[in-house]
Parts: sequence; structure tokens; C-alpha cells
Amino acid sequence: MPRQNEFPLLMELGAPGRRAYLLPQLDVPARPIDELIPSPYLRSEPAPLPELSELEVVRHYTGLSRRNHGVDVGFYPLGSCTMKYNPKVNEDLAFLPGFASLHPYQPEETVQGALQLMYELEQYLCEIAGLQRATLTPAAGAHGELTGLMLIKAYQEDRGEGHRDEIIIPDSAHGTNPASAAMCGYKVVEVKSNDRGGVCVDALREVVGPQTAGLMLTNPNTLGLFEEDILTISELVHDAGGLLYYDGANANAIMGKCRPGDMGFDVVHFNLHKTFSTPHGGGGPGSGPIVVRESLIPFLPVPVVERREEAAQAGASLEEIPSQFFLDFDRPKSIGKVKGFYGNFLVLVRAYAYIRSMGPEGLRLASEDAVLSANYLMRGLSPFFDLPYDRTCKHEFVISARQQKAEGVTAQDIAKRLLDYGVHAPTVYFPLIVEEALMIEPTETESKAALDAFLEVMFRIAEEAKESPQGLTTAPHHTVVGRLDETQAARHPVVRWQQGTEEGTPNDHR
Ligand SMILES: *Cc1c(COP(=O)(O)O)cnc(C)c1O
Repeated sequence: MPRQNEFPLLMELGAPGRRAYLLPQLDVPARPIDELIPSPYLRSEPAPLPELSELEVVRHYTGLSRRNHGVDVGFYPLGSCTMKYNPKVNEDLAFLPGFASLHPYQPEETVQGALQLMYELEQYLCEIAGLQRATLTPAAGAHGELTGLMLIKAYQEDRGEGHRDEIIIPDSAHGTNPASAAMCGYKVVEVKSNDRGGVCVDALREVVGPQTAGLMLTNPNTLGLFEEDILTISELVHDAGGLLYYDGANANAIMGKCRPGDMGFDVVHFNLHKTFSTPHGGGGPGSGPIVVRESLIPFLPVPVVERREEAAQAGASLEEIPSQFFLDFDRPKSIGKVKGFYGNFLVLVRAYAYIRSMGPEGLRLASEDAVLSANYLMRGLSPFFDLPYDRTCKHEFVISARQQKAEGVTAQDIAKRLLDYGVHAPTVYFPLIVEEALMIEPTETESKAALDAFLEVMFRIAEEAKESPQGLTTAPHHTVVGRLDETQAARHPVVRWQQGTEEGTPNDHR
């Protein structure tokens, strides 16, 4: 198959005078443009924009969409990212005008449905986490982490323990964990993993103490392994006066099965855009709600959605609360605002739709299927790839391309070759503690046939690594672009077309 890069840019299409629209006849007197817009703001020359027919516009954007891989196109086993299929009914609901056309400055009594949705979503997340209250405002997982750590800080300061300046984080942690802790002003103390891929409890004993503000943990961790010593770990940290932070970005193995609150965690963030089925990727809007234990409620960011009856029970006067649901800004110990308004509201609508349509049984089944799929792939791959931790995995697992490296083929080459077969690459070189790591997360939404097709492709690639490694080291061969200079693409992205330059052409970063 040839590369499909002979693709004209929008700017190169069309012809002067071509149009994709028809405007109605003018029914008011025409006025010259410089009477309407002051001349300093007018261009001397018309902007060099393409003039196109509707069909050209449609073909352009359809063509662009086909250059991209998405879960609606094919298998997307990007570990730690939970690229599950997002049911389209969630989109329908998020597009209802009563949600999509709301304005954040509308009076409370006109947005009761939206507030009720937020109130109920908070309750569902509390139930799933096994904790008491939540804030829906953080815009992403990392933002949730920062918010959660700010809550821990506020809590420690409030009880006169503000000198605690260390957060303990295992060496298998997601990179955002130490970054968030550092951003919150904490010293990051790393704790080693043991040979079963869990936290080494002896190593933890050595670093936990009166300087510990808390511990951040993902369970199952980024290796997809359940932390077997979690109760000992939480006791150790609590006894030393620290709190436990749960990175629940990928809750796909635990929904309805076990609860972070029961494991001893005090603060949890969820990624609605992963576990709770909201489209993500490309930096689109996300949502990283924080769920907390009783002791942290006073510090939650403002506003908190409250219900009239409960507020009245807590001593508020009913006359002051005209509506059933209201936004409470009057929280003296709150850490304040962490985002404009109330979070990415339409992401909340999608997560609400997902949770309501799945129900408790559906969520539990999703976790079970996600874990089953991951174990099925892990076992299927183990004859031809190294398995660094040979344990039952949860929603994801990590294999190593160590054997293939001996043939001169790296995890990166395998990831690139998968693109030729229409499969998105797994997460590679993460977690850092596994050499040539490939982190695979199939999710519950793939059929057995899709999993088998992936095994077949991986088997072929393992054969290619032995027989024709050079084909792998130059892959991908069939995609629109080949190997990108990823560093340049990230540091100096060219996202704007400029007339008369090569900038913005699709092959820039090859
Ligand atoms: C994705 C992820 C995060 C960060 O979430 P963002 O929404 O990308 O900020 C944190 N921890 C883990 C384990 C993750 O997988």
C-alpha cells in the first residue's frame, strides 16, 4: 500500500469565486464596508483565503479525519489511557440544548436540572470511591491531583501540621504524580517497587515519618497490578499522620468491585474522560473530579452544589435558599477556586449519561470484562514477548521487548509497525522500571474477535523481528507520515498554514 500523502491542502484547493453558501437577498440598503468598520481595522488587501465549494470543504475535512486513528476507526490499546468506546448516546445527551446552551451566569433557579445532574453525579462518584463528598471542577487528571494535594496541604495546616513537606510516591507512578506534588510545593520521596511489582513495604517504612504529608498511589498500579499490601501501606501512612491519595485516572478495573475509601484512601481523583467514557485525546476538554473523606470536606474548592433540605438540616435558613439546588460559595476553609465556573460541564453530562445507562451492574461487568480482556491478551502474548511480572493483571499489563531488542528491534519499532496494521500503538517506555516496556490496555469494549486479531498482528510482528528486522526499524510504511521527529513536533509544532512557505505541509516533521 502506498502512503496516502498526495493530499492537497485546503489552501491549494478551489478557485476564485467558488462558494459553499448562498446568502439571502439583501433587504436593507447596502453600505460601504469602511462606513461600518473604522479604516484602521480594515485590511488593505483581502486575506489570502481559499474559495471553495461545499464538496471541496467536505472532502477536505473528511480526508483529514481519515488520517487520524481513533477508537471509532480501530483498536486502541494505549495503556493507562483507557481508550474505550464512547457510546454515542452520551453525545446526544450532551448536545441537548438545555445542557449545551446554558450560560454559566444564568440565575440558579433557571439551571436547576444542571445542578441536579452535578449533585447526583457527585453522589455516584462518592459511591464508586467509597468516600463522602466530591468536587467536579478540576479539568483533568493532573489538575485533580494538584487540587487533591492542595486539600491535603490545607488539612495538615489546619491541624497545625503544616511543616509536613514530603509526599511519598512509588517508582512505578504516572509522571503527573511527582509533577503535581512538586507543583504543590512538596518534596517528592520515591519508594521502590518490590519484585512482584508492588510497593516495597520495608522501603516505605524507612521513608515514612513526621515529615510525611501523604502518599500518592495508583491501585492497580501502572503495571496493571493490584497492590497486595494496600491495607498495611495505608496503616503505615495513617499512623505516621499522613493521608493517602489515590490516583484513580484508570478506575476501569475497580468500578463496582472494590473502593479506594475501603482501602484506606482519603482523596481520590477519577478521570471522567477515561473511565467514564468521554472522548479524549488531542488535549480536548477533560474532567478530573476529586472525591474525599469527611475530614477533608471543609477544604473542598468552591462552589459546592448543595441541596436545600440538607442545607436546612445543617442549620441554614430556608428563606435564604429559594431553589432546590444551589451553589455554595460560603465555605470559610475552602482552598478557593481551582477553575472558572463549575468544571467542564458537558463532560459531566456525558459521564452522568454513561453511569446512568450502565447502572451498578453494568459498571461492575465493565470492570470484569476489562480485566478479562487484559488477562486474555497478556496470556496470548506471553509465548513471544517477555512478561516482567507474571501475575494476574487488572485492566492493563506491561510486556517487554527485551528479546526483540536482542534482534535490534525496540519497543518503539513494534509500536510504529502496529500502525501499519491499523492498530494504535500501546504506551511505550512506561513505566520506567520496565526495560523496553509496552503497556497494553484493551478495555472492555473490544470483542474477542478484535483481541484475537491483535494477537495475530503481534505474533506476525514478533516473527518479522526475527526474519526481517529492517522492515520494523523503518516502520510505519503505510501511514500518511512516517517516523516523525517527535521532539521537534512537540517543541516547535507548526499548526498554521502560511502562504508561500513549506510550513504547515503534512511532511514537515518527517
Ligand atoms: C492519564 C493519567 C493521569 C493524568 O490524567 P490527565 O487527565 O491526562 O491529566 C494521571 N494518572 C494516571 C495513572 C493516568 O493514567
